[in-house]
Amino acid sequence: MYRLPSPVEPFAFAGERYYVKRDDLIHPLYSGNKFRKLHAFFHLPSERIERVYSYGGIQSNAMLSIAALCAEKGWTFDYTAKTVPGHLRRHPMGNFQQALQLDMQLTEVHPMQYDAAVKALQSRFIMPSESSLLIPQGGANTLAHQGIAVLAEEIRAWKTGEGIGLLTVVTPSGTGTTAGYLAAALPECRIVTVAAVGDPAYLQEQIGRLMPLPENLTILPTPYRFGRLHDALLKTYHALKDGGIEFDLLYAPVMWLALADYRKEIDGEVLYVHSGGVGGNETMLARYHRQVSSGSAH
Ligand SMILES: *Cc1c(COP(=O)(O)O)cnc(C)c1O
Repeated sequence: MYRLPSPVEPFAFAGERYYVKRDDLIHPLYSGNKFRKLHAFFHLPSERIERVYSYGGIQSNAMLSIAALCAEKGWTFDYTAKTVPGHLRRHPMGNFQQALQLDMQLTEVHPMQYDAAVKALQSRFIMPSESSLLIPQGGANTLAHQGIAVLAEEIRAWKTGEGIGLLTVVTPSGTGTTAGYLAAALPECRIVTVAAVGDPAYLQEQIGRLMPLPENLTILPTPYRFGRLHDALLKTYHALKDGGIEFDLLYAPVMWLALADYRKEIDGEVLYVHSGGVGGNETMLARYHRQVSSGSAH
């Protein structure tokens, strides 16, 4: 049911050769770097936990992965989010719809009360709890390094099997949990990422909270602001898809464009780790569609 180790495929983009590690194929609902980051919880005995709490965006990839994890484990999933917009409530779609189908229990709070609600939730978990878990936004947790170490081991085995010497591993960053732990677990490789959310200094600070900043980690800049719609990003999404692989619309086009610019600086082979999140494309494509039909695409 889970496709592990995830396969590696050759891929061409903007006239260059790459390899792609297909972490998106691990499982239809529970995949990508969220699967890796939640690995430790996946291996907890089901009877140890009754209830899992988390919080964040209403179309979050982490939300869907945690919902799938809980459904599989028989755990109740309680998710705190800001009040759901009317159109989405009437017509649930994307990750939100799939998470509801997996029995996610939604706690909606007014946007003005959201920060306080998250703080209250966090303070309940200052002392470890016997039967419930709090998984922070984005699945960013200190146990994430366990799952990323498994990913690193799969990459190492593939690299050895293919007889590859010099390897650069590429993956986009939000919190930097994946790229940071990957750099720490693969000291023999360079890890290249992009600060998709915030600027490189902010990303360094985020990673610095988890670990000493790895020396083999390169953070590329991007002109794109997270979540904004841009023709160039949509075009890149379609170019990647035409090349044979569907990627997510939020992180991957930003990473691929930065990578294409940087490619000539890299010697040896490049492995792009697909970070998943394709389930969110339905709602992102709908946003692009609405913008085009309202005549305000830029
Ligand atoms: C969550 C996510 C990321 C960011 O991962 P971090 O470990 O927070 O840096 C990148 N790509 C996709 C598709 C994601 O869903």
